[in-house]
Amino acid sequence: MLALAAAAGAFDDDGDVDFEAPFEQLWMISEVRGEERGEESLTWQRLESDLEDKVRAKLDAVGEDALSNERRAMVEAPEEHLETVRLLSALPWVSSRWSIQKLISRSLAREQLVRFIADHGDEAEHLVREHMNPMASIVLTTLPNTRSREMRGDEALYLLARRLNVAQVCAAGCPDACDCAGRAPIVRNNRHLEDCPKGGRSAVHDAGRNTLRAMARAAGFEARTEEPGLIDNTAQRPGDAYIDDWDGQFGDLAIDLTVVSSQTTDPGEHRRRRQKVGRAARVAERTKELGRVTDSDELIADHLRRKGVTFMPIGMETTGATTPTWSTFIQQLSENAHERRGHDPIMFRRLWTVEMAMTLARRGARAGIRRARALAAACNGGRSGAGDGELGELGPLDVEMPVLTGDDGRGDGAPMAVGGG
Ligand SMILES: [Zn+2]
Repeated sequence: MLALAAAAGAFDDDGDVDFEAPFEQLWMISEVRGEERGEESLTWQRLESDLEDKVRAKLDAVGEDALSNERRAMVEAPEEHLETVRLLSALPWVSSRWSIQKLISRSLAREQLVRFIADHGDEAEHLVREHMNPMASIVLTTLPNTRSREMRGDEALYLLARRLNVAQVCAAGCPDACDCAGRAPIVRNNRHLEDCPKGGRSAVHDAGRNTLRAMARAAGFEARTEEPGLIDNTAQRPGDAYIDDWDGQFGDLAIDLTVVSSQTTDPGEHRRRRQKVGRAARVAERTKELGRVTDSDELIADHLRRKGVTFMPIGMETTGATTPTWSTFIQQLSENAHERRGHDPIMFRRLWTVEMAMTLARRGARAGIRRARALAAACNGGRSGAGDGELGELGPLDVEMPVLTGDDGRGDGAPMAVGGG
């Protein structure tokens, strides 16, 4: 499209208005993140059709403005005329910012995503959206240079299998259905292992909560977890992580962390989730925002505000998707870290984003593996399965006792690189 538009001379007269950057940005918003846009807002489709209109206008021009036969042939079959590449690369917006190879690579990447979803259907689309968030990818690029960033082999395998949509090695000895109330099927790469109510999702939540506390402390705050006595007359504890003197004006901060699965059995909700990155986290966060005090029906947010405490629910998905609330929080915390401890705000944000991503990934994988181990053991009449040969060669990897595989229960979120001013 770009090559034929260049051949038609369809780019604005001076040709210095970048087409690729805004196109990619709009494409990311709608096709990758799945965000809905108002009817009036600019879309990549509109950018494309505007360019097509300009090409058509050039083709339709008569008299002095008419295209030469040679140019017309290029527009009709740009791939047969190498000259179109020269015309494209001569455009100021291309020559100053882009290599032709990069334009081609980006176009291919976009095409591949669309084709992947078209070829593999709804589940593939869901898989893409689940993992198309920055936190999910951090795991793939992080070096194990602190203990909190080290991953066990079976954890890494679990996360890779989930991402690549191949069978979980640890599920090899599992029965067809889970033994929890929902009797969820344990099929190929089933995410139920890490989401099972009998499993370790609360461990993921608790590890995330501890990481929040560690972040706040690293920024120079007094911070605790599970603050008691915030709500009168009930045992409700909306302060998973509690930060003293967060804001001179509004006092303390109570963070209610909620870690949810991106999976759902509701067909309508499934459709919305597979089209929009982070939808499950946002919905969960919104539900928490509307949470009420049990005995008075007052909004928790209002109840805490009366006591000088800001209530901040933060939603996260087990695959790493978060919400704008998390971004706002870590942004503000990094500025506090700069003021209080002299940390570089950008480095602080990067470091703690990695810590949180690793916490969610490692704990989620561990929860899934443990669930698979428990199911396999129950399926084998209570035996651990290790070494008895019944699980075949895949057995030892996933049925080893935690103590043998380096799980020392040290907890997450205390990187050695941080602390001190
Ligand atoms: Zn289950």
